[in-house]
Amino acid sequence: MRHSNISVFVPHIGCPNRCSFCNQNTITGQVKVPNANDVEAAVKEVISHPNYDAKNTQLAFFGGSFTKIDKALMEELLSVGYEFVKNKTISGIRISTRPDGIDEDILNTLKAYGVTAIELGCQSMNDKVLGLNRRGHKAEDVKKAAALIKAKGFELGLQMMTGLYGDSDEGAINTAKEIIALSPKTVRIYPTLVLKGTYLAELYERGEYSPQSLEEGVELTSNLLLMFEKAKINVIRVGLHTVESDGFVAGPWHPAFGEMCQSRIYRKKVLEIIEKEKTPKGKLKIFVPFGCVSKMIGVKKSNIEFLASMGYNCKVYEHNKMTLSVMVD
Ligand code: SF4
Repeated sequence: MRHSNISVFVPHIGCPNRCSFCNQNTITGQVKVPNANDVEAAVKEVISHPNYDAKNTQLAFFGGSFTKIDKALMEELLSVGYEFVKNKTISGIRISTRPDGIDEDILNTLKAYGVTAIELGCQSMNDKVLGLNRRGHKAEDVKKAAALIKAKGFELGLQMMTGLYGDSDEGAINTAKEIIALSPKTVRIYPTLVLKGTYLAELYERGEYSPQSLEEGVELTSNLLLMFEKAKINVIRVGLHTVESDGFVAGPWHPAFGEMCQSRIYRKKVLEIIEKEKTPKGKLKIFVPFGCVSKMIGVKKSNIEFLASMGYNCKVYEHNKMTLSVMVD
């Protein structure tokens, strides 16, 4: 059964500073600060759906820095959610916040209101990159917060970004290595986008920042996904679902970004086999698990065309194994 989140977005309030890339209004499409009634309405709407399943439904406070908002408001929002947890309407509450928004007291409060999972926006584990992007915290804050969250028995999630101002592919790979060392349960990867009204947009307009191209974003993110897959860490989100078109300036956004990364992984796996087995150029049969043919073919047949450009004329078939295999046709 698929897990689903009832998302309540908490905008900027609470953020002590504005990160270089952040314009929450553009991302969430919401400016209003939620109140108890909004939380109740959001839950009631989802539970009225015929496919709703209590055991797999969580309330999620996302968007801003949840634990940095006024404590009275935080408790007002949590208390509504906790009533639904207590009467088993939902299975738990997740929140996202900044690494410097975590301490023992805050964790005790979250525990008391039935919060089960905490996601930290760490974005980079390089202090120079964090400083350049006006994050207002250091890598050490991520390490301390992650350790406290795990020690208190919460599920830990970490979010990272690629293509940040002052960062590089190597830097993002190092960030992923440091995240793996903190062994979170889940990870989200967001390529940096230039949004209107941000410091990054100013840098971009002055020619001081170039975002990743879509190709660079897909290539790096697919490598990161392979690292997390090897470390058995579940990546639950790749790229933003939506951005408001009038707030988007530049960057590697695509509605099928996650799918493009999955396809790139399939391409990499085929290339690895071809290289290892010194497969001669010509016709190939590629076998993939059920439901994965489109990932192998790629968006607009990109993988098939790429392999054709290397001299491999490929046909893709499903088989009842979880592995990918290649046969000379
Ligand atoms: S902490 Fe998060 S929500 Fe707050 S400004 Fe930075 S990116 Fe935006």
